[in-house]
Amino acid sequence: MVEHQGKTYRVADAHAHIYPGKIAEKATANVGHFYGIPMDEVGLPHVLSEVGGAAGIDRFLVCSVATKVEQVSSINHFIAEKCEKYPAFLGLGAWHQDVGDIEGTLDEIEALGLRGIKLHPDFQEFQIDDPKMLPVYEACTRRGLIVLFHTGDKRMDYSSPRRLAHVLEKQPDFCCIAAHLGGYTEWDDARAVLSGTNVYIDTSSSLFAVSPEDARRSIAHFGIEKTMFGTDFPMWEPKEELERFFALGYGEAENRAMLYGNFARLFGLEE
Ligand SMILES: [Zn+2]
Repeated sequence: MVEHQGKTYRVADAHAHIYPGKIAEKATANVGHFYGIPMDEVGLPHVLSEVGGAAGIDRFLVCSVATKVEQVSSINHFIAEKCEKYPAFLGLGAWHQDVGDIEGTLDEIEALGLRGIKLHPDFQEFQIDDPKMLPVYEACTRRGLIVLFHTGDKRMDYSSPRRLAHVLEKQPDFCCIAAHLGGYTEWDDARAVLSGTNVYIDTSSSLFAVSPEDARRSIAHFGIEKTMFGTDFPMWEPKEELERFFALGYGEAENRAMLYGNFARLFGLEE
């Protein structure tokens, strides 16, 4: 629980990364280097559990990205193992555009109890609307699996909100999360081109860069009921991200929805 102005809020972190112990430091440093942002923590499961827990967060959507197809299954076993160890964790599987057996890999993801997949098109070097990925999105929708996209980066085109909009033209009921208020460093563009009945956004790695007014503009565009709080751990300290979130100045009902209610509804948890 988190206290703010005399109210207590239950909080879920809809965007957190964890890495296996032996690569955690290097992986964390690489991500920090890619974005030119110093990382606040190391992306270890126990650190997330401790630091996030100390900040009052009691649910975490955890993921890890596969940059090679051979990593997919082992990452998925790693995420599932950590979800078993830390009951506060809800896991997303890793995926790769070169996965050959789409249904078999999704079967394994479901058998492991994972709730969807995480894609980082810029790290993985595929375009969101790559025709190869369309059957994956279709299969996830059919199975009720959620697809979390890293979206947006002015420096490259793989993850642009426009590309996600192309997918939604073909699959209007596609249920996905467009991270970083719909498009990191492309916030205006995301509002201009991206919308959809099942398009969610998270607030991660954005509130440090946009004004509260612009953040509210993005949230109004996608909808309060489609917006979820997220930290992009280990990128940001959970406590500081919560302060940035509360600085947006929403009322109690909106805060409750974005901090926990929408997440609980999307993932079928108790509200
Ligand atoms: Zn991420």
